[in-house]
Amino acid sequence: MPLSEFDLIARYFRSAGPGRADVALGVGDDCALLRVPPGSLLAVSIDTLVAGVHFPVDTAAADLGHKALAVNLSDLAAIGAEPAWATLALTLPEADEAWLVQFSAAFQGLAARFGVELVGGDTTRGPLSITVQAHGFVPEAGALRRAGARPGDLIYVTGELGDAGLALLALQQELQLPAADRVAVLQRLYRPAPRIAAGIALRAVASAAIDVSDGLAADLGHILAASGVGATLQVERLPISPVLARHFHAAGGWVLPLGAGDDYELCFTVPAVHQGLAEQALEAAGCPCTWIGLVEARPGLRCLLDDGTDLGLAGAGYQHFGG
Ligand SMILES: [Mg+2]
Repeated sequence: MPLSEFDLIARYFRSAGPGRADVALGVGDDCALLRVPPGSLLAVSIDTLVAGVHFPVDTAAADLGHKALAVNLSDLAAIGAEPAWATLALTLPEADEAWLVQFSAAFQGLAARFGVELVGGDTTRGPLSITVQAHGFVPEAGALRRAGARPGDLIYVTGELGDAGLALLALQQELQLPAADRVAVLQRLYRPAPRIAAGIALRAVASAAIDVSDGLAADLGHILAASGVGATLQVERLPISPVLARHFHAAGGWVLPLGAGDDYELCFTVPAVHQGLAEQALEAAGCPCTWIGLVEARPGLRCLLDDGTDLGLAGAGYQHFGG
């Protein structure tokens, strides 16, 4: 790319506003220079979105700008971190100014909502690909690792599950949705809201946590594997939106809430003695949560209906939607 194009791109990713006090040097030098607060661990997460692999090539630039940052902030939420900084590597077929305006406005809009400062980046020419690295702070004793679940712990999930999966079915034209429902679930797919406040509220009370990016069964499976435990889910307790409830049978019943990814809710486990504390902490954080099952010593994940039938969807759902 000629220098002028780099200049153009740099213009869109200069941070607006006064910036964070912990940024000694931001965008524009060889490195950013950053201060981590004493007593905190630096939490770091990176994700790449590739056109045609992670999103359709015609996805709106604003949706990509939001989602590329949101999925990284969701990982920070899942470990209980408070977001601070981000870096961005963009590979673009061309320096399309209209695309950059929309992408950067959505990216910076979400960044501003969570006090995140963009502190560096890189641009190259090539097939569209977006890599974001997010950095946050978490007290050493407060980090929500995957390995902390113990038999007897209660399993919870925030928000509602399956809407992003329903949006994918609509995009793939496997299901026709009324316009209002389609808009609502596409919003869930393209504009996920990272559960930062919930992650921070759970620091002192949850035993393990993960964000639901690949589907509840798969992601809970990561907690179970890391913790060396099993679990039973009460499937009919899984929280679903009124939109998904309207299309529940056409969308495959519990397959979406159990198996579809991209919802970016938090799944977490809580020792029974902390149940009241956890529910109060999330209520204070303005985050709905639902108790959905129990951690057990017996390995494996059981997905039971109220009549005792085991749906056995744990593997199938993951392969279809997240694999
Ligand atoms: Mg994650």
